[in-house]
Amino acid sequence: MNRTYLIKPVLDYDYPTAVYGEGIYLYDHTGKQYIDGSSGAVTASIGHRVKEVVEAMIAQANQVSFTYRSQFTNEPAEKLAKKLSEWAPGDLNWSFFVNSGSEATETAMKIAIQYWQERGYGRKNKVLSRWMSYHGITLGALSMSGHVLRRKRFIPLLEDFPSASPPYCYRCPFNSTYPGCNLMCAKELETAIKRIGAENIAAFIAEPIIGASGGAVTPPDGYYQEIKAICERNEILFIADEVMTGIGRTGKRFAVEHWGVVPDLIALGKGMSAGYTPIAATLVSDRVMEPILRGSKAIMAGHTYSANPQSAAVSLAVLEYIEKHRLVEAAAEQGQYLMEKLQQLANMFEMVGDVRGKGLLLGMEFVADRLLKTPFHPETDVTNRIVARAFEKGLLVYPAAGGIDGAGDAVLIAPPLVIQKAEIDRLVSILEDTIREVESELR
Ligand code: PLP
Repeated sequence: MNRTYLIKPVLDYDYPTAVYGEGIYLYDHTGKQYIDGSSGAVTASIGHRVKEVVEAMIAQANQVSFTYRSQFTNEPAEKLAKKLSEWAPGDLNWSFFVNSGSEATETAMKIAIQYWQERGYGRKNKVLSRWMSYHGITLGALSMSGHVLRRKRFIPLLEDFPSASPPYCYRCPFNSTYPGCNLMCAKELETAIKRIGAENIAAFIAEPIIGASGGAVTPPDGYYQEIKAICERNEILFIADEVMTGIGRTGKRFAVEHWGVVPDLIALGKGMSAGYTPIAATLVSDRVMEPILRGSKAIMAGHTYSANPQSAAVSLAVLEYIEKHRLVEAAAEQGQYLMEKLQQLANMFEMVGDVRGKGLLLGMEFVADRLLKTPFHPETDVTNRIVARAFEKGLLVYPAAGGIDGAGDAVLIAPPLVIQKAEIDRLVSILEDTIREVESELR
């Protein structure tokens, strides 16, 4: 293949061609094996080439692949919505299907706005969010995203939705320490609400554990309970963006369950189909649906492929696989083991500043000085060095931005939930060699 017509992330980079996958492994055109230590973009959570999912795909294609939601409902989409309502916490009983995480968060934003409109509060249409967050790449989703680099080019087109600091204890935005901090980062949301006016705000959106823009930044206990109370006090809906954390990744079906809070809306994607088809969903609570059911009786959103039977059948097969093989429990157990191993690496290498996360969504932040937590100079390009060196050695890890200004260095380690302990040992051993090499390069 001499010339390419495909627009790739880095246009002049020579990417290897992926040809085959099996379990936690991917193989390229030369036959080289990679441990999928990041499940791609934290997506391939049941591993590659799962027979049951392939069979479900074929069975559905042999029936009907596409029907349009304004003309028909279909059994796989009905069953999938039912299963999600059984899985979801509280009264999040309704599913609106879309094709990507960006569409799921943007649809959540629109449903939140519509909810207030149907109740006669048309001015409540802002959606507050946090800095150091990522909710998607379309303009509405990017407006909510506090991801400095991804916003930069489009700032004039975006709404100023990021209004609160992240719960980033490793580099506390308030220079404080938990629990003495009294959860100032959560309380800041209330200050922002007061400044903007609750009468102008439809919802607050947050990733339960910050993924791509933080490297598995995990809030302290009490944070989400405080956030939920602030939202309720101010009559603002709470949207949990579980696109990365949902469907078992963190050792619970939904990451909000770690803190016992029930959001009004949840955005799902990635692990919902484990990469076998593009499908995502906005889950909506009975409470939010109620005025819409009484009022206009239609959600003003939707895409051609929303709730198509082919994607729904695949997602359903993935959820059934996760249930049958108890992969949520596996994520908790193997995640604990992986966390211990990563902490051992942190003890070995000066450049590892922090290890964090839950279940199999773990992050590692790199620093120039561990005591002072000084970040590396951006030109050192440490994240990309780690990712590239691990890739050479046959291990995939996901680059994340560390630091509130997006200038820090972090990676996500998020292998498929089917990973076994011996495979974790191999993953960690490659990561150890990688860090050793990069650390000696930087000396
Ligand atoms: N929300 C979160 C938390 C994400 O991590 C992502 C993607 O990384 C998105 C939304 C956007 O999802 P997609 O890339 O499928 O549009």
